[in-house]
Amino acid sequence: MAEKLFLEVVTPQKAVVSEPVDSVVAPGSEGEFGALKGHTPFLTSLKLGTLRYTDTQGKERQLFVNGGFAEVLPDKVTILAESAERDSDIDIARAHAAKERAEQRLATRAAGIDLLRAEMALRRAVHRLNIASVRK
Ligand code: ATP
Repeated sequence: MAEKLFLEVVTPQKAVVSEPVDSVVAPGSEGEFGALKGHTPFLTSLKLGTLRYTDTQGKERQLFVNGGFAEVLPDKVTILAESAERDSDIDIARAHAAKERAEQRLATRAAGIDLLRAEMALRRAVHRLNIASVRK
């Protein structure tokens, strides 16, 4: 069997993925990029988005990733994300609650509210809900 590309996705809280894969597509801050085995090495920062990969059974999988860094080597892709979870692990009620909280903060614009922080929380929640709505 041909050697596979190995994918690791880790966050400060947990290891989310650690397995051989056929291909990876990730949300680089300069645009989405794909990696297959044998890719030229590079490093990039990531933006909030969807990380997709095809597992060794040929099944497409997707994860939420919130920023971080990717290191691409010919035989390994390492993703260090601020937070990440598989689509099947997204808690929809939690994401709805986070979305409502952020929307309320943005709507009231009360003194002491960090608008940028609320905006980022809203983007995370909306993207989690988008991914969960198209669970594979
Ligand atoms: P919340 O306000 O609900 O905590 P958040 O966007 O601030 O949401 P993060 O800082 O991105 O949360 O993530 C903190 C931890 O909680 C991470 O381990 C992340 O994987 C997990 N997490 C956050 N939201 C969800 C969710 N809706 N479903 C599953 N895990 C989640």
